[in-house]
Amino acid sequence: MAERPHPPEVDRVAASRRAVAVRRERASLKKDVAMRVISPQELLRRAWADPDSAAGSLRITDFLTAIPAIGENKRDRILADLDISPVKRLGGLGSRQRVDLQAFLDARLPEPQPRSGRSRLLVLAGPTAVGKGTVAAHIRDNHPEIMLSVSATTRSPRPGEVDGEHYYFVDDAEFDRLIAADALLEWATVHNRHRYGTPRAPIDAALAAGRTVLLEIDLQGARQVRSAAPDATLVFLLPPSWDELVDRLVGRGTEDAEERARRLRTARVELASQGEFDFRVVNDTVPRAAAEVAALAH
Ligand code: 5GP
Repeated sequence: MAERPHPPEVDRVAASRRAVAVRRERASLKKDVAMRVISPQELLRRAWADPDSAAGSLRITDFLTAIPAIGENKRDRILADLDISPVKRLGGLGSRQRVDLQAFLDARLPEPQPRSGRSRLLVLAGPTAVGKGTVAAHIRDNHPEIMLSVSATTRSPRPGEVDGEHYYFVDDAEFDRLIAADALLEWATVHNRHRYGTPRAPIDAALAAGRTVLLEIDLQGARQVRSAAPDATLVFLLPPSWDELVDRLVGRGTEDAEERARRLRTARVELASQGEFDFRVVNDTVPRAAAEVAALAH
C-alpha cells in the first residue's frame, strides 16, 4: 500500500502554530465572559457569525462554566433541559438549540439595553487602566463642541500637568471649603488616597449655553452624578479583552505585585458594575472609541 504523502514540514508547523493560537484565543474568550468584559450573548453572536472561529469552536460545557454563577451542576442541568449534548461546540449547535440557549440566557442574564433619551451631560467611567483619560483627552483635542470638565484634586501635579488645564490642584482645606459651599457636583476619594471632585458652576454654565459636557471620573463619582442628575448619559469604557486590561495594568510597571493584584481585583468588581451604565464602548483604538463616545452626545 502506498504511503500517504506527509504534509510538508512547514505546513505542519504552521498548522500547529494556528492550533495553539486558537486555543489561546478560546482561553481568552472564556476569561472575557468570566470577568464580564463581554456578555455570554455577545460570545454566542461571534460563534454563530463564524462557526470556524475560536468562539465557534468553544465547547458548550466550557462556555457555560465560564459564565459567572454557573458551576458544573448547574451546567449539567441546563444541558439536560435544553437537550444539548455536552460534546457540542457552540458553532455546531442546531437552530432550535441556538434559539433555546439564547432564550435561556436572555431570561436569566438580560443584556443591558442602551437607553433612548439623550442628555448633554456625558459621564465617562470604566475600570482602572482601561484608558479613560486618553479617550477623554482625545475628545477634548478633536471635538471642540464638547467641553471636558476640569476636576479639582488634592493630589500633587505630575510633571507636565498644568493647574486649571488638567486639574485644579488644591489642598485639603480648599477641598473641604468646596464641599461645604456645595460647589462640587460629585466628589470621591480615589484609590483610597486623594480626593477628586467636579466643580458644578462651569458645567451649569456650559449646559445653559447649549454645549455638551464630558466628565471623566471614577465609578463612585458616576453613581453620584446619576443620582444628582438622573438624565445624565453614563458611558462605560470597556477593554477589548480581559487579557488586554491585565497587560495595560501590568504594563505600567509602576506597582509591586501586591498592588497589581489589588488593582486586578478592583477592575473585576468595576467591570461587574457596567449594567448601571447607559452605554458601553470598547476602547479598541483611542480615536474610534473617542468618536463613538462623542457621537453619543448628539
Ligand atoms: P489621576 O490621578 O490618574 O489623574 O486620576 C485618578 C482617577 O481619578 C481616575 O480614575 C479618574 O477617573 C478619577 N477622577 C478624576 N477626576 C475626578 C473627579 O472629579 N471625580 C471623581 N469621582 N473621580 C475623578
